[in-house]
Amino acid sequence: ESERLRLPPWLKTSIPTGSKFGALKEQLRSMKLSTVCEEARCPNIGECWSGGKNGTSTATIMLMGDTCTRGCMFCSVKTSRAPPPLDPDEPVNTAKAIHEWGVGYIVLTSVDRDDLPDGGSAHFAETVRQIKIQSKEILVECLSPDFRGDRACIATVAASGLDVFAHNIETVERLTPFVRDKRAGYRQTLKVLSTAKEINPDLLTKSSIMLGLGETDQQVEQTMKDLKSAGVDCVTLGQYMQPTKRHLKVHEYVTPTKFKQWEEYGNQLGFLYTASGPLVRSSYRAGEFFIASLLR
Ligand code: SF4
Ligand code: SF4
Repeated sequence: ESERLRLPPWLKTSIPTGSKFGALKEQLRSMKLSTVCEEARCPNIGECWSGGKNGTSTATIMLMGDTCTRGCMFCSVKTSRAPPPLDPDEPVNTAKAIHEWGVGYIVLTSVDRDDLPDGGSAHFAETVRQIKIQSKEILVECLSPDFRGDRACIATVAASGLDVFAHNIETVERLTPFVRDKRAGYRQTLKVLSTAKEINPDLLTKSSIMLGLGETDQQVEQTMKDLKSAGVDCVTLGQYMQPTKRHLKVHEYVTPTKFKQWEEYGNQLGFLYTASGPLVRSSYRAGEFFIASLLR
């Protein structure tokens, strides 16, 4: 067994604060809305919640419970073959809370629900509709499950009125079987992304890659090219962090300089935007980047 790698200085962070950040945090306390940003103690919370240059704040919330039917080797969400049933009031209650809260760009993510006949796609779509009814101006991104590639489920989400359809490829093709649950797949993910675009060409599509799992540069290049060929508009790259000792080890801490090179490579390939950095997560400053890419 190899020793665990030391944490490099660029990953030692403190959670920043700001006035807008403080206001949003204060408001959240009075509502029954829990964010992934706070629960995961995400170091980007100051940047995301303040919305940067154009002030479009971003937050992420998780739908469909806290228990996943899958067990990916990089993810610390708990697993069960039969998670509790969906809360039928979740779409409307979520929409109300988000409206009160007043965030600019909301990322809806979820566990995978292979136990449900439609994978939870109708629930996901209903949440988007309710949010758009309550808050006309808000931008909505769905960080969607793969629904095992089921076209009808993908269509349900892709036609729900959302602005951005995201689904993460997570890693290069060769490492996929060791990193993601057996039911996920590299080719399946590409197909899910191209299908969403085909069903609704107005959507922006987006995907995310974790680095530091033992992938080669050539494999990362190939993955980015494959995403581009699947019509994906935006890509994000970040460092894989081992959540617990039972999860996959970090193979390498990729340097900030290297991440910068991937950002340049993404720009060369012609993505609308490429966010790449050690702490970048799929939802990192998503609203700010979305607006900035429209203004370009
Ligand atoms: Fe929240 Fe995602 Fe930003 Fe982290 S990166 S603060 S989880 S929106
Ligand atoms: Fe985690 Fe998503 Fe994999 Fe479930 S499907 S274990 S939530 S990464």
